[in-house]
Order: sequence, then C-alpha cells, then structure tokens
Amino acid sequence: MATAFELDLTFGREVQTRSGAPVLRCYFCQKCTAGCPVAYAMDYKPAQVLRLIQLGQRDVVLSSSAIWLCVGCEACGTRCPNQIRLAPMFDTLRYMALEEGYSPDPAVYALHRSFLDSIRLWGRVHELTMLMEYKLRSPFGSDLLADIRVGLTLLLKGKITHLPERVRGLAQVRRLYKEAERRSSTEVET
Ligand code: SF4
Ligand code: SF4
Repeated sequence: MATAFELDLTFGREVQTRSGAPVLRCYFCQKCTAGCPVAYAMDYKPAQVLRLIQLGQRDVVLSSSAIWLCVGCEACGTRCPNQIRLAPMFDTLRYMALEEGYSPDPAVYALHRSFLDSIRLWGRVHELTMLMEYKLRSPFGSDLLADIRVGLTLLLKGKITHLPERVRGLAQVRRLYKEAERRSSTEVET
C-alpha cells in the first residue's frame, strides 16, 4: 500500500483502463464539482479526486470518503466537456479500495450495501426494508428506533410503501449483478 503523498505513476492509467472513464483528459474546470449533489459532504470534491488520480495519489484517493459518497446520479458526466463520467470511475475506485484492503466508513458502507441488496432483491429500492437492513448493518444499529417517528409519518402520508413489490424484469437485474461480480472477480485475478 502506498503511503500518503507517495507518487504512483500507474494509478491514473489503471483507473482509466478499469473504469473506461478518460480521467487523464481532465483539465480541472470543476463543472463536475459544481453540479454534484453530494460534493458538500466529500472530503475531496469530484474534480479534486480527478486531480489526485492524475498526481498518482493512490493512497489518498483510496482512503478518502469521497469515493463512498458518490450516488451515481451522472450529473457530472453530462456537464463534463471531456465526457468523463465519474460514476463508473467512483465504482472502480470502490472496488480498488476493497481489493487493496482499505476500510470504508462503516456507516457509508452499510448504506451502500443495503441499497444494492434492496435492488438485487426487489429490482428497485424498497425504502422501508432497505432502511431496516441499514440499521442492522450500521454502527448505529443499536439505535433501531431512532427514526421511527419519521418513518411512521412517511408511511402514513404514503411516501413509502409497507410491502415491497418485485419488478417485472427482476431476472435481468439479477443477471446484471452476476455479470458485475464475474467481471470484478476476473479483474482481481488478472
Ligand atoms: S467537468 Fe470534466 S474536465 Fe472539468 S473538472 Fe470535472 S472531470 Fe475534469
Ligand atoms: S455521479 Fe457521483 S460524482 Fe457525479 S455528480 Fe453524481 S454523485 Fe457527484
């Protein structure tokens, strides 16, 4: 594992090859950061992550909270004058971080897992069961009843549903998960 501020000249090319995002083209205009809905919560803003990658800062990037906070909304990709899509880049960085033994923030990772599990199970997010799983997984799990009043209000107002429904194309969704797992394990082996 590289130490902080150690230069790793292979990092940028590796991220580019694995994610398909041409990260080395970025000229730091910061349009991605300006449009990102979660940039305010990141330790390094999206454009800064790009610059750190170009500067070979593997350790700084893979240990940052930013890579776990991207929600994949693709707002940055539509704004970038260089057609750099940051969502697949952040996906790749998360894989790399796990492969290389970096520990994500437990609460952020719990939400990430719960979100993906919900889609795998139902074909789309079912908020109630996803939040229950999140509570059980997260370091705040002991605080199971903390948000019950908010949850009840949302239920009563019909903003979230009691029972999940499986989408019609669930088999295809699960095939996508299997394919993603297969590709990620192939990448780890090669
Ligand atoms: S919008 Fe594109 S070119 Fe501009 S900083 Fe972001 S990734 Fe780089
Ligand atoms: S895809 Fe990620 S980095 Fe890009 S705007 Fe959305 S949350 Fe921000």
